[in-house]
Amino acid sequence: MNQSDILFDYKHIWHPYSSIIKPLPCYSVISAKGVHLKLQNGKKIVDGMSSWWSTIHGYNHPILNKSLIKQIRKMSHVMFGGITHPAAIALCRKLVKLTPEKLDCVFLSDSGSIAIEVAIKMLIQYWESLGQTRTKFLTIRNGYHGDTFSAMSISDPENSIHKIYNHFLPKNFFAKAPVSSFYDSWDPTDSISFKKIIEKHSFKIAGVILEPIVQGVGGMKFYHPKFLKEIKKLCKYYCIPLVFDEIATGFGRTGKLFAFQHANVIPDILCLGKAMTGGMITLAATLTTRKIADTISKSKANCFMHGPTYMGNPLACAVANANIKILEKNIWQQQISNIEKQLRIELLPLIKHPRVIDVRVLGAIGVVECFHYVNMKLIQKFFVKKGVWIRPFRKIIYIVPPYIINNDALKKLTNAIKDALNKDELFKNT
Ligand SMILES: *Cc1c(COP(=O)(O)O)cnc(C)c1O
Repeated sequence: MNQSDILFDYKHIWHPYSSIIKPLPCYSVISAKGVHLKLQNGKKIVDGMSSWWSTIHGYNHPILNKSLIKQIRKMSHVMFGGITHPAAIALCRKLVKLTPEKLDCVFLSDSGSIAIEVAIKMLIQYWESLGQTRTKFLTIRNGYHGDTFSAMSISDPENSIHKIYNHFLPKNFFAKAPVSSFYDSWDPTDSISFKKIIEKHSFKIAGVILEPIVQGVGGMKFYHPKFLKEIKKLCKYYCIPLVFDEIATGFGRTGKLFAFQHANVIPDILCLGKAMTGGMITLAATLTTRKIADTISKSKANCFMHGPTYMGNPLACAVANANIKILEKNIWQQQISNIEKQLRIELLPLIKHPRVIDVRVLGAIGVVECFHYVNMKLIQKFFVKKGVWIRPFRKIIYIVPPYIINNDALKKLTNAIKDALNKDELFKNT
């Protein structure tokens, strides 16, 4: 890659949430191995983001690579309409086995946002089969569920990156997000707002959708497990299906295989994505109970109306199988617990720093929330110079490293955060 490539990228290519007029600089990565990204200039930096929660076993993993090569030799793709194949069957078997017993039926799709769209369509069809037109969803503030339209319509309308589309989006119900954090004692008033809305509008609500325990893009907040128990009780009472978006938290990140296990609450629909293929290819899944699946199939359409072109892509399924097989060896629990311990020791003391509002750690997630917005361009440059890849947003500097990270590499990440806090120029005045 030469200067003209970089210039082409700058002028012609959109990156996530970026401008094409005056984009922030992008760093060119030429290869990656383990927890390291190798930059164009040969420098290796420690990845603190797992490429957005996905690369849990690290880059260029021999077992994951091998699974893809093996599958490529058989077939890279075949349509899923009217055709099935061993990789998809093996994966869905694994997903059904890994998740709670009542989650029994699997819909594979291309990305997290689509897994959410699928859940929403399923519930609209579910109620249609039951002879009711229900088109509203209930969620809580500070949520994030993806960038497609109905996913946006249940993501926080104020604090979200999607505000400009508000006039186009379906209007859903937003209850107050719980204030009691994961480690606080439970404040029973936390569920009042949710309770009021569900009581008043229960006949309009097709489903309740939320991120269990960890609210990601909405602010990296960890809320109290008791909140989920209260929500579940209310959903049960009003016979409204409960959907958990575990796209970020699924597959071990919070210290449990799924975040809802912190509360022992089982959803009626579960959305998975991000880490499912270990960061190798995009793939997502929406799992439902037999009851919901059966009801949907009795709707006027006689079937569920969704079918992406690349549904059940064999490469994605094969590598997801290999990825889950590594998880099944059960080393992840020790890995996450080690990361959590070290994050506590190295990050929690930062709470005393005058720049810091809050520091939180859960599983392999470390969050430092600051008083001021970061200057993205400068802080990114600073981190790269320090030999780490950390991509903050708004006032939040967080890391979600690969599970395989060792003490030294993790220390490099936490040290870089510490050092950044001491540099005023990396933060804005707002
Ligand atoms: C990333 C994410 C999504 C969207 O997934 P994509 O694969 O980016 O479409 C949805 N929900 C949550 C909680 C996420 O973190």
